[in-house]
Amino acid sequence: MDYLALAKKYKTPLYIYDFDHIKAQYEKLKREFNARKSLICYAVKANSNLSLLKHIAALGGGFDCVSIGEVKRAILAGGSNYKIIYSGVGKSDEEIKEALNLDILMINLESYEEMLRVELIAKELNKKARISVRVNPNVDPKTHPYISTGLHKNKFGVSIDEARKIYLHAHKSDYLDPVGIHSHIGSQLSDISPVIEAANIVSSLLKELRAADIDIKFFDVGGGIGIRYKDENEPNLYEYAQGILAALKGQDATIICEPGRFIVGNSGELLTSVLYEKRNTNKRFVVVDAAMNDLLRPSLYEAYHEIVALKDGAKSPCDVVGPICESGDFLAKDIELPRLEHGDLLVIKSAGAYGYSMSSNYNTRGRAAQIAIESGKDRLIGQRESFEDMIRNEKEFI
Ligand SMILES: *Cc1c(COP(=O)(O)O)cnc(C)c1O
Repeated sequence: MDYLALAKKYKTPLYIYDFDHIKAQYEKLKREFNARKSLICYAVKANSNLSLLKHIAALGGGFDCVSIGEVKRAILAGGSNYKIIYSGVGKSDEEIKEALNLDILMINLESYEEMLRVELIAKELNKKARISVRVNPNVDPKTHPYISTGLHKNKFGVSIDEARKIYLHAHKSDYLDPVGIHSHIGSQLSDISPVIEAANIVSSLLKELRAADIDIKFFDVGGGIGIRYKDENEPNLYEYAQGILAALKGQDATIICEPGRFIVGNSGELLTSVLYEKRNTNKRFVVVDAAMNDLLRPSLYEAYHEIVALKDGAKSPCDVVGPICESGDFLAKDIELPRLEHGDLLVIKSAGAYGYSMSSNYNTRGRAAQIAIESGKDRLIGQRESFEDMIRNEKEFI
């Protein structure tokens, strides 16, 4: 890729997404489930760029959303309402109402209390709400604690007992239609055996519910497939799919999975320019024009992102840091880079997932521009945020 030309054309920091790689990842996963009815619902929060969503919708993908804003993004980008799932531990009445009016595939319930709210609102709208229940199977996903979601100590989902209660209530309700069952135990899993374990637990409940005449059509195993940032094992997709199929034990259901990171993580890079090098006594810092507001993962999870310099030379250790006024503002620590000068480019790898979508205006820095590369051609898919954009909501009040 001609990074120099891209930096000239679009400036930096710049998010670059490889749409061909996104397609390949999508198809690789979809293929594993070919023998069965399946739906890939891409997790919008990993990267919610509208053109990227449109690209996935065109491949036939659905969407897993965690706010009504994400639901509306998915629909705006051409997503089919009947392929949209709405999850999340705290949905407001307004969000529930909108989701019901948009006739999405299902609202994923995360508590008994939420079921009562959804039932009440569906009654007011005189609708029957298609719902699923997020089961928390109490399985340890063995990932970073901030991205573990499948243990009872995490806030997500309900226990098997609670789920059973919700299904029995929903089954009798005139305003609820239980159509799905769901679990999502965590993110960046390099060992997928906990997902299979969860699928087995959830599948037993599915069987029991069907015996009670509750006709669940969608078996949703969530997301969480890990990717390689450095030297992690990438899960074997064949084993993943076969494990899920085996867990279903021949029960006829449409399998849904909700990959986010797997689809976009290694499809994206963040291109940044060196502002200067500095030394505080013996410590070497490379100060760049991207920062934690552009890519929060290193600061938030101490996540590793490979950083490649587009220039050779003898390497020495350094921290790569942004201009933000926080010591936590770093993109890499103690990595080896050649001597760099103002204007040199660095490529921050594996930045497609939870990169731009976690970005902010902290320090009144505009969000980066975003481009797509498809069949060798580049195009702008997200304007760099201007000062005017950042003050729009406040300006009229001064
Ligand atoms: C975040 C999330 C996902 C996607 O997780 P990845 O690790 O990016 O695959 C899927 N489902 C739900 C409910 C989520 O909250």
